[in-house]
Parts: sequence; C-alpha cells; structure tokens
Amino acid sequence: MNELGLIEDGAVAMRGDRIALVGSTREVLAQAEEDAQLIDASGKVVMPGFVDPHTHLVFVGDRAAEFEMRLQGATYLEIMAAGGGIMNSVRAVRSASLEDLVAQSQERLDRMLTHGTTTAEAKTGYGLDTDNELKMLEAIRLLNERHPVDLIPTFLGAHAIPTEYQGRTEEYVNLVIDEMLPLLERKGYAVDGKPLFCDVFCEEGAFSLEQSRRILERAKEMGMGSKIHADEFTSLGGAALAAELEATSADHLACTPEEEMKLLAESGTIAVLLPGTPFGLGEAHYSSARQMIELAVPVALATDLNPGTCYCEAMPFIMALACRQMGMTPAETIVAATINAAHAIAMGHEVGSLEAGKKADVLVLDIPDYRHLVYRFGTNLVDKVIKAGRIRYPVDHDCHPEPSEGSRFHTRKRDSLRSSG
Ligand SMILES: [Zn+2]
Repeated sequence: MNELGLIEDGAVAMRGDRIALVGSTREVLAQAEEDAQLIDASGKVVMPGFVDPHTHLVFVGDRAAEFEMRLQGATYLEIMAAGGGIMNSVRAVRSASLEDLVAQSQERLDRMLTHGTTTAEAKTGYGLDTDNELKMLEAIRLLNERHPVDLIPTFLGAHAIPTEYQGRTEEYVNLVIDEMLPLLERKGYAVDGKPLFCDVFCEEGAFSLEQSRRILERAKEMGMGSKIHADEFTSLGGAALAAELEATSADHLACTPEEEMKLLAESGTIAVLLPGTPFGLGEAHYSSARQMIELAVPVALATDLNPGTCYCEAMPFIMALACRQMGMTPAETIVAATINAAHAIAMGHEVGSLEAGKKADVLVLDIPDYRHLVYRFGTNLVDKVIKAGRIRYPVDHDCHPEPSEGSRFHTRKRDSLRSSG
C-alpha cells in the first residue's frame, strides 16, 4: 500500500472517456495526435480521481440541532427521545418528494466533485419501508443519469429498526428478505454485471449477527454484492461473517479483534475505514489501520457522508485524519482513497488508477508534491477534476453548459507547451 508508482515529469493522454496512454511527458507528447488539446499541469500533481466507497449521500434536511445537543452533553438516548437519530432522517426522507431528494443530494454530489471525488457509493437506508427504500434507489439512479460523478448503489434496508417495528425486529428482517429484496430483482435494480450491493448495520441495537447473515445470504443468492457495517461500537462477529461470505467490503471496523482481521486478509475483503465518524462524534477511538495493513488486510478510506455523525464531502480531509489518527502514511492514504476504494465497490477494473484503458478520471492538484495533499488540510487543493475525459471542475462559465467542449481554460496548444519545455 505504500507504492504509488510515481512518474516524475509524467503525462496522461486521454481519448474520449478513456485513458489512452500514461508515461513520461516526452513519450506521451511523441504519440499525441496533431489536434490534441493540452492541459498544462507543470509543477502540479496529477493523480486518479478519488473513489468514495461508503456514503449515505441521499437524504433531506440536516441534524445540526442534534449536533449542538451533543456538544452540550446530551446522550444518544436523550437525542432519540427528542426525535433525533436515524429516525429523524427517515421521517424527512419519507415525507420528501423524489425530486427534492434528488435536488438536495445533487448539491452534495457537486461538492464531492469539487473536492476530487469522481466515483462514489451511495446507500439507501433512510426509507426503511418498501416504497421509500425504492424511492431512494430511484433517486440514486436519477443522480447517476444527471450528474458526472458515477454512483454505485447499495441497498441498506437493514440500516435501523423503524419505529413502527420496535420490539418486532424479526418481522422487519422478514420484510427486508421476503418483500424488499425480491422487489429489487423484479424492478431491475439487481441486474448481473452492474454492481448493486446489499449492506446491513450489524450492531447492538440494530441487527444481530444471525439477522445480518440471513439478509446477506439472501442478497448473495440474488447475485448482489455484500457489504456490512461491522464493529463500529461493539464487536458482534460481523467482520468474520464478511470474510465467510466473501463480502466485497467490511466497513467501520473500529473494534475488530485480530483473529477477525486475519480472516479479512484471507478472504480479500476490503476494510473500509471511516475516520470521519469518530471525528464527527468528537470521540477518540479510531480503527487500527496500522495493524490491519501489517496483517495484509486491504484498507480503503471513505467519508461515511451522512447527516448524523459525519457530514463531510471531502476525501482529502478524511485522508488527513487517517494520517494523524490512524498512523497511515501519505502514500497509503492515496492507495486507500483510489484503487483500494475502487475495489471496495467492485470497480477496480474501471477506475482508481491511471492506466491505459481505464476511465479518464483524473485530478490535477495545485501542490508540488503528493504529500502536501494530507500535510495540508482545510483548504481545497484540487485545481481541476476531469471526469470521463471532460473537465468538470472548475466549471468554465464562458462555454457553459458544456464545460468540456473547449476545455479552454488553462489549456495551451501543443506547440506552445512544447516550446515552453
Ligand atoms: Zn454507514
């Protein structure tokens, strides 16, 4: 994870939405087409777009009032009693129109793009009934259609036990298995070849290990990929279950025992670590990233963007936290936020690295050295975001609404770049 494959004085050629060639500037220019447009990144860092493999991007409203209550010492139960917690977002999503859900989420997606994210996972889980879980999946589908950032959907019907099922968790699990999952298949959300994941919040007060197993096994039978929220606050064996089911990822892992880390290393399940969440909660306990890396567990990083515990859209901030709170090196955080993150959503063949044939998702960072990306924090160091071969940030208002058309800003003709050396 500490190997970046740096190319000094490197260049990337793109054709259409794909990377055509990666190499030294001399090599790439020698093969560039006569009319190729050039983007000068002299003195800057060029790297793959970030992949954010764990987000609860789709929601409406916010929970700023709860944040303030927490700062004033309110406990989780007191916040729940005041109508807070996940059910607060569930009520908001249930009463929102599909268009509202899309519009509010799209603003967050814009900010994610601005901070360099070009592919992200997006979960359901604020519907918690059949109609509203489907509404959330539909919102993700529409965002995918309308927005340049690619979204990989995850069905998280088992995010929490909805109020109307309190004390009847088994019945709710049955609803997920017997009604929601089969409907995804019928509606065409679970189509082979296109990643669609099923996720479960395996935690005390949420879903037990056995309930998580039943849901994930049923999803697997349907051809869906598996993910699990495991060991965020208590260790129930969720990481071992992920390894046994050969889940694509196990997420959070803040209190995973060493034996279960070893199982993850064996199964190749990606550990998606979310240091923004303890930071967001003002807690001091972070996942043991160093131990996992030493045991050869593939580690990825994600924002966990959500309205309750971590309203953060920026991968670079998460990477800066990972260095300081989990002892990861700058290079390890880059691997964790790109290629490993891509594998955490089964997209490692398409995105996550600069390689010929992959999607042309490329960042230009206004820094002289990759380490500055995590050494500095709190300002956006992204100079340009190229998504599928088109410059999407900054938006060129002169040639709006087709920003890629001219790729005019800060670009120079091939000859002028050559003569400038
Ligand atoms: Zn989550």
